[in-house]
Order: sequence, then C-alpha cells, then structure tokens
Amino acid sequence: MGWLGLDDTDSLGGGCTTEVLHQLVKSLPANVNAGQPRLVRLWPFAQRRTRGNAAVAIELKTDNEQELLHFLDQHWTSQIEPLGGEIQSSHHSDREQFPSDPGMVWYSKPEPFAAFYRNGLRREIHLEELPPATKSWGGNGRIGASLAVHWPADIKTYEAIAWRLKSCEGPRRLDQDAMQIIDEMEETFLCRDHRLGTSMLAPRGNSPVLFGIRAWTKSGAEKALQMLVDGPDTESTSGSMIFETNQATDDHLDDAFEVEVTGVDVIKGGHTRIRSDSNHYIAFRESGDIARLAQHLRTGDIVECKGLEAPDETIHIEGLRIRAIVPDRSRPSCTECNKAMTSMGNNQGLRCKKCGRTMEDAWEESWRNLPLGVWIQPPASSRRHLSKPLKATEAIQNNL
Ligand SMILES: [Zn+2]
Repeated sequence: MGWLGLDDTDSLGGGCTTEVLHQLVKSLPANVNAGQPRLVRLWPFAQRRTRGNAAVAIELKTDNEQELLHFLDQHWTSQIEPLGGEIQSSHHSDREQFPSDPGMVWYSKPEPFAAFYRNGLRREIHLEELPPATKSWGGNGRIGASLAVHWPADIKTYEAIAWRLKSCEGPRRLDQDAMQIIDEMEETFLCRDHRLGTSMLAPRGNSPVLFGIRAWTKSGAEKALQMLVDGPDTESTSGSMIFETNQATDDHLDDAFEVEVTGVDVIKGGHTRIRSDSNHYIAFRESGDIARLAQHLRTGDIVECKGLEAPDETIHIEGLRIRAIVPDRSRPSCTECNKAMTSMGNNQGLRCKKCGRTMEDAWEESWRNLPLGVWIQPPASSRRHLSKPLKATEAIQNNL
C-alpha cells in the first residue's frame, strides 16, 4: 500500500503524463490493485514546468511491496526513462525551453504535508525540499510527482480522459450529439467556451489525449465518459481513466487583495497594469473583460484582485471586483456660452475663456458607469486549469 507519483514525461513528440500512467497501470502485476488516479495542476510559473503543468499520482495496493518495486524499476528503465531529453512544446516561445526530465516517486506511507502542496502552487520547489520518498527515479519530474502524491485532496473535481489509438492521426473525431448533451449536463464544466463557441473537450495540438471531460462529481465524469465513448461518431480509444483533480478549486489563490489604485498603464500588447502602493497587478489582454475594465480604472478607485504572484513580483489578475469608484470631476459650464469654465489658478476661481464670466472655484461630479461589486473572470479558454469558474462555487459547496 502506497502512492506512486509521476511527472515531466511530456515532450514535443506528443507524450502526455496521463497516458504514461495509464500504460503503467495496464501493465501492473496481477496482485497489485490500482486505486484512484490523480491529476494535479501545479504552479504555472515553475521554471521547468511541463506543457500541461500537471503531475499524476495513484494509490497502489499490494501485499508484496518488493515485487512491486522490482516491477517499477523495470518499467521505469524500459518505458519512462527513455522519454527524457526531448524539448517540450510550449505556447510561450519567449520562455526558455527545457528538455523533459521524467521523475517517479514511491511513498509507502506518505505523511500528510499540506504546506508542501500549498507551496507547490505558489512558488518554485527544489529537489532538496521533497519529503523523503521510499524510492525515487529520475530527475526534475520528481518534484511534480511528489507534489501530486502529497495533494490533500480536500476539495476536488474530476476529469475523465480517453486516449487515442496509436494508428489515429489528424483531427480528432468526437460525436457531436454526445458532446452537446455532455455540455448541458449539470455535473460537467468547461466543456465549451460559450463566448467563442468552441469545444474544450479535445486538446489542441499533438497529444495522445482524445478528450478530457471535467466534472464536479465522479458519477458525472463516468456518465459523460461512457456517453462520448459510445457516441457513434467518436473514434476508437486505447483506454480511459477518471482522475481526481485539483482543477477548478482555486487552490492556487489566497484571499483577494484589496487595492487602492494609484495609476493605470496600458502596456505593450494591450495588457493593462494597475498600480498601487503595495503591488502592481497585470491584466493580460487575454483576460477579456478584466483587461477592458482595468483600463477604465482611475486613481482612487478601490478594487479587489485575485491572482498569483509571478517571479517578477507582479500579480497576474485572475479575478477583479470593483469595490468603490471615485466620481468623474469636471468644471461647471458657463451659464451664457455653455462652455466649460477653466481654473485661473489655485483658489482663484473659474473663468469662461469666451465671454470672460467668472465664478468661484467648483467641481461637478458625475457617476462613472462601471460594474460595482461583481467578480469578473477571464473567458473560459483563457482561464487556468486551477481556476474555479464563478458559477461553480455553489456546485462544489453543495457537491450536487
Ligand atoms: Zn461664457
């Protein structure tokens, strides 16, 4: 009885750590029982993160641990170690590329270590920090592997993943009717970016994954998986598994920061920086309404921001809520000419440039039409795997 973790096997060749785990489970000795597999998303800024930035783990039960370790040794050498060394693909070409460096860990009796997992979603973790494993294999991947084992799984969601046959290439064939029904199921989430009208069930690019269906409940994941696999237009799969995951849990976020805006800059690429006395907050163009709203903020506005601190110490905004806004101020208009009066200097009153009429210093305030007290989130396809969709809060709390 113990936990196995695995990470950093993704490569440009199109590998996926979930499939590597699936293959391992399929070849386990007959006297080993596989428990619940896990898919754990990690700190998005990790220097050597993998493409999906996720590690996997699974509970394995056996009464002969030595035999299991012998199997794992052999499986590591023949199947997993050779995956190392390939440069990982990445959507971010400005990021330094690292060759994949697979790692595997075995913990006979993992001790609860919630702080380790928590740190693993907020900062770089180094090999020296890992809780000592019963046995470990490989390199940098041991970090994610160990974090996946130590995820406390207090709050969890599910993802049903199915893999393609080796013979299948090109566009993925998925039954459209089944996809439609799955999207409408109460138990599933993030099946579709409704704004873009695109499905989010199939991964983009080169991957052995045919589809992944995210669900609030295990039974929902099972039901949707069966429906899509059975869909007449869905291509054959090489297998499937239902993972427990930390997706859509907001585990990576702390409480929101309440901020008084001291300035707003639109920066290169259409991104927006909100300045404050404590931190700088970045709303990326991809965050949609957040970036648009951020551009309308002014000095003195009070906002709440949720987000992760990046290595450059800016906070990348994943949620924005306006608490209070300063009104627009303008000079009153001349009662004769209807033109805005101008100041003649500090406490020296106002003057109409056209007719010369003067009056005492004054401001007119008007309300700025911005949404108050409402959390704004990026569109579904720009959201982190870890981010909880706004509507989800109740679904998780009630556990359906
Ligand atoms: Zn005038």
